[in-house]
Amino acid sequence: SQLTKEDLKKKIQDLNIEFIRLQFTDVFGAMKSVSVTSDELDSAMAGELMFDGSSIDGFARVEESDQVLIPDTSTFNVMPWRPSDKGVASLVCDVYNPDGTPFEGCPRNILKSALKECQDMGYRFNVGPEGEFFLFHTDEKGRPVFDIHDTAGYFDLAPYDMGEDARRNIILTMKKMGFKIEASHHEVAPGQHEIDFKYDEALRTADNWMTFKDIVKNVANNFGLYATFLPKPFSSENGNAMHCNQSLYTNGSNAFYDPNNKENKLSDIAYYYIGGLLNHAKGMTLISNPIINSYKRLLPGYEAPTTVAWSTKNRTTLVRVPASRGKSTRVELRNPDPIANPYLVFAVMLKAGLEGVKNKIKPPSEIEKNIFDMSSKERNKLHVDKLPRDLYEAIEEMEKDSLVKEALGEHVFNLFIKAKRKEWNDYARHVHKWEIDNYLAKY
Ligand code: ADP
Ligand code: GLU
Ligand code: MG
Ligand code: MG
Repeated sequence: SQLTKEDLKKKIQDLNIEFIRLQFTDVFGAMKSVSVTSDELDSAMAGELMFDGSSIDGFARVEESDQVLIPDTSTFNVMPWRPSDKGVASLVCDVYNPDGTPFEGCPRNILKSALKECQDMGYRFNVGPEGEFFLFHTDEKGRPVFDIHDTAGYFDLAPYDMGEDARRNIILTMKKMGFKIEASHHEVAPGQHEIDFKYDEALRTADNWMTFKDIVKNVANNFGLYATFLPKPFSSENGNAMHCNQSLYTNGSNAFYDPNNKENKLSDIAYYYIGGLLNHAKGMTLISNPIINSYKRLLPGYEAPTTVAWSTKNRTTLVRVPASRGKSTRVELRNPDPIANPYLVFAVMLKAGLEGVKNKIKPPSEIEKNIFDMSSKERNKLHVDKLPRDLYEAIEEMEKDSLVKEALGEHVFNLFIKAKRKEWNDYARHVHKWEIDNYLAKY
């Protein structure tokens, strides 16, 4: 809940806080922050804290670069890995223009406006993300080296090594910061871990996700390890996902659950929501899978989706409905990766799902077979479309999707496409090691 200025001041005094980190997220999903001392809280709360927006990726132009951070006091949290005497607390902020209007390039504002539409339709939007990452060793300068810390696999109890200690410490730190941890385990690939925390309303979850990544990075660093959320560090191992479990609640009950539906206890709303997600799946992929490397993960055989389909059991589809019902009835979107901007991912998926609900879009039949084993002829017969295969195709798909444009607003939509075209062109022009390895001695 929101704290008044007085509550906040008292907390700061009681907890012996000296520094306050004002945080926000840039368009491409990087967390940014500026620290102020606790004496400056008043001016920060009054919106007097200006910063140079032109120095932040995807923010303002130099000609009109002053921007303002307004703290959301309900996000106040203490950083347990910093000293406890004269400690450090964080506040997540919204970005405003100097004239007091919300800045259109602020991802948090973009999610808020999608949530407003959802609320007006009578729903609360919940998201529960699953966080996967790798732990790498570091060299004497603290830089990551391409060497994982263990050789364990799915659900293995890793040897009592730095990796296991680091994961334990990450979880303890998250608990101190108010997270409810649901599960944590070693993932399929060597050196890969997963931590799942409890779902919450989408804005809170997006803030939590950014905090979660910050904790993982910092704690790993304290253990001499480097944590990476890179979607696909190894060509022949599973990559990192950020599965987005999602549901709509109405008056406190789960709108996706219908105990009277004999077949699988899903409501019409759930079906329409899935219909909307599938309709915009290709157009949203640039947002959920935003870099060249993201598409090396979306290949058959690594538990990551490659096609636009849904299922109640099968983990090879883009959308899966896990078996739990009642309050936990949810739809899992499996393509997002953990470097995506969570505010933007949640905004576009919500808009897509809501469009399905508004227009009563029925999804195609569910796919029960392993899609990785299907021929393209079989897939065509079942109308299973391919997801974009690389960043280039994802850009082309997003450009065609007017709902994604509406969700992001012109500013972020155009900026994203421009930046991603540049990234693709840089990559495409570059001669890669693979080409030298495979071609040089041959031609
Ligand atoms: P998986 O079956 O893919 O392994 P997990 O059990 O690892 O899924 O992850 C479950 C995630 O779904 C958790 O973050 C959990 O809080 C979240 N979740 C549970 N119920 C809901 C709900 N009603 N809406 C959104 N997320 C939910
Ligand atoms: N790591 C897999 C991926 O890249 C997901 C594994 C899982 O189902 O949890 O999508
Ligand atoms: Mg997993
Ligand atoms: Mg999952």
